[in-house]
Amino acid sequence: MSQINSEKCIVCASNNFRLYLAGAMGEEIFYCAGCGLVFTHPRPSRDELKKRYDESYYSYWITPLQQKRRVKLWMGRAKIIQQLKLKGQILDVGCGTGLFLHICQKMGYSVCGTEISSFAVEYCKKEYGISVDNTSLEDSRFKPESFDIITFWHVAEHLAWPQKVLEKARELLKSEGYLVIAVPNVESKISHNFYRLLRGRYCPLYTADSKEPHLFHFSTKTLKFLLEKCGFRVIRITADFAQVDPRWKVIERIAFGVSKITGKDWYDSILMVAKK
Ligand SMILES: [Zn+2]
Repeated sequence: MSQINSEKCIVCASNNFRLYLAGAMGEEIFYCAGCGLVFTHPRPSRDELKKRYDESYYSYWITPLQQKRRVKLWMGRAKIIQQLKLKGQILDVGCGTGLFLHICQKMGYSVCGTEISSFAVEYCKKEYGISVDNTSLEDSRFKPESFDIITFWHVAEHLAWPQKVLEKARELLKSEGYLVIAVPNVESKISHNFYRLLRGRYCPLYTADSKEPHLFHFSTKTLKFLLEKCGFRVIRITADFAQVDPRWKVIERIAFGVSKITGKDWYDSILMVAKK
């Protein structure tokens, strides 16, 4: 705990941290008593993180069945982009193997991406002919005010310093541009309870060998705080539909329905649209 108290919350600068749910969702999961932000501590180094996103990380998603399901997922998300702006320059941060950019390009957008995984960058070039920058957004060389739309699809929770990356995104966004960000919801009580029911224990938010190294665990409240701290104005808050497995899709829809009825933000994933 002494080490953690030398840190400052990336949202509210408090250093008053406590173990989240008494460690039930992982012994490395803390929350800030000042603003409620939930995070993993300690966070792996940048080099360690880069190593995690190798071929084995992506191999599951690039199977023919997953690809088929993921086209539907990304088409749905691309339609959200179309509602904001029909043409323009898109930057997808942490674009992975590039299927979203491929779909956007076919819809007529100019596309750019950043991705730290060398495997994913090569796959994107080979499969879709799209060259994306094999770098983090902070180290990219785009000019300020270059983009109409910047997207973060389930990326912010993987970042060691998301506020620095979001500040950079704000710099790169045109004055009338849109930031679109989706993250898992730490308050997704319905899915977490389904998990407990099926497995008999809490769903861990992070373990040292997690396939998905999530370092921050946002709620609608803490994500909005973070965006505002980085100079954005949030204009829309809703659910993101991220599941592709048919069983989890059902649970995701139930969670969304319960959230609608109760007025609570208990859906699985959060989607926010923001402007400068
Ligand atoms: Zn805080």
